[in-house]
Amino acid sequence: MTGVSTDDVRRRIPRTDTVLAEPPVADAVAVVGRARVKDLVVAAQDRARRGELAPEDVTDAVVAELARLGPTAASLRPVINASGVLLHTNLGRAPLSRAAREAAVAAAGTTDVELDLATGERGRRGAGALDALAAAVPDAGGVHVANNGAAALVLAATALAAGREIVIARGEMVEIGDGFRVPDLLVSTGARLREVGTTNRVHRRDYAEAVGPDTGMILKVHPSNFVVSGFTSAVPTDELTGLGVPVVVDIGSGLLAPDPALPDEPDATSSLRAGADLVTASGDKLLGGPQAGLLLGSAELVHRLRRHPLARALRVDKLTLAALEATLRGPEPPARAMLHTPYAALRERTEALAAELGLEAVDCTAAVGGGGAPGVELPSAGLALPVAAAAALRVGADPVVARVEHGRCVVDLRSVDPDDDARLAAALRAVTGS
Ligand SMILES: *Cc1c(COP(=O)(O)O)cnc(C)c1O
Repeated sequence: MTGVSTDDVRRRIPRTDTVLAEPPVADAVAVVGRARVKDLVVAAQDRARRGELAPEDVTDAVVAELARLGPTAASLRPVINASGVLLHTNLGRAPLSRAAREAAVAAAGTTDVELDLATGERGRRGAGALDALAAAVPDAGGVHVANNGAAALVLAATALAAGREIVIARGEMVEIGDGFRVPDLLVSTGARLREVGTTNRVHRRDYAEAVGPDTGMILKVHPSNFVVSGFTSAVPTDELTGLGVPVVVDIGSGLLAPDPALPDEPDATSSLRAGADLVTASGDKLLGGPQAGLLLGSAELVHRLRRHPLARALRVDKLTLAALEATLRGPEPPARAMLHTPYAALRERTEALAAELGLEAVDCTAAVGGGGAPGVELPSAGLALPVAAAAALRVGADPVVARVEHGRCVVDLRSVDPDDDARLAAALRAVTGS
């Protein structure tokens, strides 16, 4: 390239301010911030200077890069979960319903989370969400919401058993994931664990013998991510009442009432009817809502927890309260719809996509995941691609997380919200070139 033509190219490269003022770029400045967009403009201008990009294409290149980086100032990217694991902890567990998303966005500005607009007086924080939860579980005399399931457990253990003993079955000393161990969490509150039974078996008399003046509570923890089979026995909640100490049941999954699709999964209503004084659960597992820790139980115990100083440190923010209430009052959230979709409907949807994209439809098996319904296999259908497609899908413009099994990449449709099928098709087309 001669000096003259290089100068000519340089003259034709649009100035930074000109590119920043182009409507699609200006819109992005308002959403992701000027500094980040300016870096992209400078990078595109450099490419044009090196002859890698036509000067006329600088703005388009910036717009394309903005699209690739995602639509917000945060680095978190929207991802299509085609892994077949409905509640994928690494993908943020339950996707929120449209109702919950819109409620969270509406609450994101200034909102009446703790003010009674009619009287101008201070209101009960998150009253709407708490009322919705109480209405969903009429057997609970009191309800409270903390940051997550672990926070709910910490609050219960601290308020009821700090400096005292928690009686817990040895087979329920579980590790949830990423090294999070329920017993370690409990001990961190200053409570002492009094283990009863053996790994595989525990009886009512083991609990009865361990309970004494130093007992703060009995805790039952649902082994939510493994199954013990063979010579086993656990003590049902209704046999643990009457020992004179509160019985706390950590059901984990957040089912509020029995779900026929998951007959072995514990739920809050059944646990309370069996005599549990307090139930703890997560909001972002099978309830299908935001990360939250639900505490449901006797009015007196819940009142004690709510008044405990630690409750303030574990309290949820307005976005969570809004999303939780909308999850409880709104239409069936995506995670529950995914669980309940009949296989035949899934197969039909998969075949339509397969025909459209020239791909193969296959049967596969999905799972609940995220600490719920261990061992439950959900019949599913998906699209089969070569193994190499899995990585390409992950790093595409609209990332898709698929599953690699039996020497192929499977895009499992059970964990994909049908509202996202057009997005999924576009992402698949980008990778297969179809
Ligand atoms: C998931 C789970 C927890 C932890 O809940 P988080 O909401 O992840 O803090 C505790 N106990 C059980 C039984 C669980 O399944």
